[in-house]
Amino acid sequence: MTKLVDYPNILLDALEHGVMIVDEEFNVVYWNQWLEINTAHSYASMVGKSLLTFYPDIDYRTLQRKIRTTLRLNSPTFYDASLNNRFIPIPRNKITSSVLNTMQLQVTISPYVVEQRMVMIAVYDISDLHELKLKLQQQMKKIAQLNVELQHDKQIIDDNLLIVKTDGDFHIIEVSKAFNAFFGFKENELIGWPLQIIYSDKTPLSEYTHMKKTLQDLERWSGEIEILSKQSKALWMDAVVTPWIDHLGILSSYTAIYHDITDKKRLELLATTDPLTKLYNRYRFDEIFDITLMREHWKTGDSFALVIADIDHFKQINDAYGHQRGDEVLVCIAEVLRHTLREGDTLARWGGEEFIFLLPHVDARRAILVAEKLRVAVEQLNLFVNVQLSFGVSLFVAGDTQETLLNRADTALYKAKENGRNKVELL
Ligand code: GH3
Ligand code: MG
Ligand code: MG
Repeated sequence: MTKLVDYPNILLDALEHGVMIVDEEFNVVYWNQWLEINTAHSYASMVGKSLLTFYPDIDYRTLQRKIRTTLRLNSPTFYDASLNNRFIPIPRNKITSSVLNTMQLQVTISPYVVEQRMVMIAVYDISDLHELKLKLQQQMKKIAQLNVELQHDKQIIDDNLLIVKTDGDFHIIEVSKAFNAFFGFKENELIGWPLQIIYSDKTPLSEYTHMKKTLQDLERWSGEIEILSKQSKALWMDAVVTPWIDHLGILSSYTAIYHDITDKKRLELLATTDPLTKLYNRYRFDEIFDITLMREHWKTGDSFALVIADIDHFKQINDAYGHQRGDEVLVCIAEVLRHTLREGDTLARWGGEEFIFLLPHVDARRAILVAEKLRVAVEQLNLFVNVQLSFGVSLFVAGDTQETLLNRADTALYKAKENGRNKVELL
């Protein structure tokens, strides 16, 4: 066979991939240095011999077809070696944790000397790439799996939890399916509106202000609020609102999760309200009284007043007009008292025809003024009968308990009755 390629061929030996030159009968014409190193067959042992001698397992039918195509078209073709390792097996000499111990090869066949039916076969080690691809495929599979799980979880959340998401200005940007269904809104109906639109006016403005301030300080807020359904049905919710901070540390949105506590609230209301006047009952008043007293222990400075009011000669009203009309009087008085007080004052029905008040942040003068105002308001009531109240006031001093405060107010009330009724007395 004519020697068509010089040995050593500096150019072919400098390449960092394998190059062999063969004819269409697979006789080796050149075997470059890369192949010498990686196959452990020298140029000398290969040249002039058939590949078949050394590598009987190659798919020669396909290889021959490819070589002939290359020569016929006089342009390179690609031989797919990936399937069943259909080309020369080259061990990987790298120490890797890989499962591949034979190189994954990419094989291209180029025309060399067409008249002599010779081609140049280049082999590239693409094992790393292949491994990367495998790893990537595995990860993609994992991500896809996670995504499926995430979608599933999201679906469950969307279907079952009452969630509203707002932007940084508390404008609604997302509403869960469950929320819309629960409150009777259509999809997207609430989008763009300020969050406040869903809240009833039962939630005091101070509560919003507190909520906004807490959230703007990037803290979680929780509390009870009342939400109005599309059909204006008021439902009490336990709310947890969380600020969402993006990866740049900038506040991007708020997420509110609601939980229906209407039944609990209803029971709570029953347990704490007087059914006739709708004022707090004695039980609830005691609770607030306790809290106020406790707070007083941690504080210095301003004091608070306890006031007991009793209707004058109420028995006579009952006797003259009947118990039911007496009840009406009680309701009217409760209403007037409620409207005359400041927000922050506490009012309850203490007993049959007795009312009780807690006035925070007042001194003696102020407490008497408030009681006087209440007295006059009732006196001026335009009912079917004239009604009047007597008041006993006691002012908190260090060491006071519920009992001592109540006793003093009671004694003061007794004094007011003694002194002719329709009066305010302080002790
Ligand atoms: P005083 O000025 O000394 O307080 O006279 P009084 O008649 O108001 O006091 P007394 O304690 O003798 O009577 C209180 C009356 O209040 C007796 C009771 O029938 C009436 N009363 C108590 N609870 C209710 C109620 O829920 N509805 C009605 N209509 N009357 C009530
Ligand atoms: Mg009484
Ligand atoms: Mg009375």
